[in-house]
Amino acid sequence: MPSSTVENYLKAIWNLQGQGKKGELVAIGRVAEKLSVTPGTATTMMNQLLKKGLVEYTPRRGVVLNDDGRKAAMRVLRRHRLVETFLVEIMKLDWAEVHEDAEVLEHVISDRLLERMDEMLNHPTHDPHGAPIPGEDGQLAPDGTAVLADCPLGSYILKRVREDQPSFLQWLAGLDLVPGTKLILAERNLEADTLTLNLPNQETSVQISLPAAKSLLVVDS
Ligand SMILES: [Zn+2]
Repeated sequence: MPSSTVENYLKAIWNLQGQGKKGELVAIGRVAEKLSVTPGTATTMMNQLLKKGLVEYTPRRGVVLNDDGRKAAMRVLRRHRLVETFLVEIMKLDWAEVHEDAEVLEHVISDRLLERMDEMLNHPTHDPHGAPIPGEDGQLAPDGTAVLADCPLGSYILKRVREDQPSFLQWLAGLDLVPGTKLILAERNLEADTLTLNLPNQETSVQISLPAAKSLLVVDS
């Protein structure tokens, strides 16, 4: 079994656990769905992860990462986010188009290369999408953000975009909705399921759908 497969399972379980909050058991069906494999395939994998000492797994109830599993997941996440940062900052690729490459490279670059990338980038704390980069010790700093879709009307700073779809990211960039942007949540239209955002720096306003606003993480301004 290639290590990239193990790493993808660990990432998937970590994501389904609520990104590192105190882990509840995740149903195997959800893991299978996330990775587009059959429940049978996912179940076989659970037994392998159990043998490797990376999960707690109870047949028919679900799976949760143990400490070693969480550390391993954080190592992959650190690689992914550092690679994305490198591709944007050093190689000047578009932020909308680096996720797929990072999905591949996260499994294959050596620790030596990763360290060099980290140095060249001057030890970044966040990736181009505003997601925190786990430290070498596997710690992930809490980012204190809220989901824009759930926020009351008010002034905010966009901190993070939690979505990998290139077309969505390109659309946001076209609106100048990128991490660091100041915005005012001016109106919530319940009939149309949209939010109106004023962008004071651009002196414009835009309407975005509620589902889109679920991918935008903000802090109070
Ligand atoms: Zn990514």
